[in-house]
Amino acid sequence: MCYCDSLSTEWKTQQGYPEGFCGICERCGKPGHTQHFPGPVPYTGAWCDRCVKIVAYTWVFKNPVVLMVLAVLGVIIVTRLLK
Ligand SMILES: [Zn+2]
Ligand SMILES: [Zn+2]
Repeated sequence: MCYCDSLSTEWKTQQGYPEGFCGICERCGKPGHTQHFPGPVPYTGAWCDRCVKIVAYTWVFKNPVVLMVLAVLGVIIVTRLLK
């Protein structure tokens, strides 16, 4: 799922990535892997093994589109209850 195999070792060393990693985590700055976002968003970033799980579980609450849909659903439910 990550770019370890597609990036050359030379290039990774140039970027300062430790051996066995292909990116630096965006959240905590630890060595990690460059990979596609673990959600339905066309975004590629780098996360460590720990943060990629956190990102996968928390993207829902940080996505403005999802929050908007939840807000609209909330309004619909409330207006139905008030009828
Ligand atoms: Zn990797
Ligand atoms: Zn991390």
